[in-house]
Amino acid sequence: MDKIILKNLCVFARHGVLQFEKEEGQDFYLTIEIERDLKAAGDNDKLSSTVDYAKIADIAVHVFADKSYNLIEKAAEDVIEAIIERCPSIKGVMVEVSKPNAPLNVKFETAMVRIERKLHRAYLGIGTNMGDLHSNLEKAVESISIMKETRISAVSNYIMTKAWGKEDQDDYLNAVVCVETWLDPVELLHFCQDTEKLMGRVRLEKWGPRIIDLDILLFDDLIISEPNLVIPHPYMHERDFVIAPLKEIAPYAIHPLLRTFIKDIKVEK
Ligand code: ATP
Ligand code: CA
Ligand code: CA
Repeated sequence: MDKIILKNLCVFARHGVLQFEKEEGQDFYLTIEIERDLKAAGDNDKLSSTVDYAKIADIAVHVFADKSYNLIEKAAEDVIEAIIERCPSIKGVMVEVSKPNAPLNVKFETAMVRIERKLHRAYLGIGTNMGDLHSNLEKAVESISIMKETRISAVSNYIMTKAWGKEDQDDYLNAVVCVETWLDPVELLHFCQDTEKLMGRVRLEKWGPRIIDLDILLFDDLIISEPNLVIPHPYMHERDFVIAPLKEIAPYAIHPLLRTFIKDIKVEK
């Protein structure tokens, strides 16, 4: 990926856990790398096709020097958050904070932290079979769309399906949503669980009726196998109510374990 780099911006600030660091302040150096496709800017020579590095420098310096942090980790994180919020076209950002005058009893060049964030693509399966099904899916989509770290790039049609796994219950309305997100997989899972809770989901029995269910189906090409998080979703390739809407919005996405295009997955019925 192409990059725009600002190297060693000197910023005076009052960060540190010691009182004298907060009172006297010192110089810090910020290096920022922005990932963005620069092909169009290289072709058309227009500022609107790139990210203005003066704007990045301005955001970084203001956020960094605006208040006194104990930790340069937190200062770097806040700089990243501000850049992500104000520059929607970027795909990744790295911020390095160097503190060459840190209070250490040893000769050293600098103390520094480096924080990196990337924009990820994930697919969420959503489903409901209680109450007003259409409105439940709309509410789930709405709650995804208002998250500031995430934007929706596609929503499939809503499809009615027979209950899967435990069949003596009402039919489901299902859909798949494609998102671009700065969250990591665990943060995205917590978002799904918080949304389920907020919408009033109560778990009484496995695969039982629910107001809303949000599952992470795919997250980039990651394979995760933790007790509370399995990606790709372990049953997705067995469920037509997932694969059919996913084929609609992402036929050429790749299932990283089956190593096949989504469009080529055949669900046994
Ligand atoms: P299924 O996971 O078979 O679709 P379900 O959606 O009814 O069943 P839930 O009760 O919603 O299951 O979730 C049970 C647990 O599954 C959650 O607590 C969560 O930690 C875990 N989980 C594991 N992998 C995922 C994933 N990819 N997406 C969402 N939850 C997951
Ligand atoms: Ca589920
Ligand atoms: Ca679930």
